[in-house]
Amino acid sequence: MDKFIPDIYQKSIYDISYETLKNKGIKCILFDLDNTIAPINVLTPEKELKDLVADIELLGLKVIIMSNANKSRVRPFKEGLNVDSSYNSHKPLKKKYKKIMEIYNFKDNEIACIGDQLLTDIYGANKMGFLSILVNPISDRDLFITKINRIFERKILKKLAHQGLFKLGEYYE
Ligand SMILES: [Mg+2]
Repeated sequence: MDKFIPDIYQKSIYDISYETLKNKGIKCILFDLDNTIAPINVLTPEKELKDLVADIELLGLKVIIMSNANKSRVRPFKEGLNVDSSYNSHKPLKKKYKKIMEIYNFKDNEIACIGDQLLTDIYGANKMGFLSILVNPISDRDLFITKINRIFERKILKKLAHQGLFKLGEYYE
């Protein structure tokens, strides 16, 4: 169950202190797409998001979108934000995470993953030894596959809350 507990939990990507991450030695931010940086029905990045990514890059951090969605979903964000991306990532499987480490030459303790799902984003990051950061989903509208994941997520959340290990709405960093 430990592998489902995020290292950091914040309300949204706008509530995270990227400067603190940098000071911790983080060099690369892997952003999930759907319901982390945009709702599922929004097709291009909005200004607020563009500004945030620019601010993060100013700190000297590498920003990469890592999504389980397909190329056509990810591309407008990759292009609109002018960042690198990994699509069809099959999180939480290790393959694409390893590929990213290889390509960019980052160590496990230099990467932070930010996402809205315990089963994919947090579990995947924890398995790799990356810093895992959970945010609340932007919208309660989910893709079909995510709806299925949420059923298991709710069970995990219930267990974690019962054991006093994690509770939704109680933010920490
Ligand atoms: Mg997501």
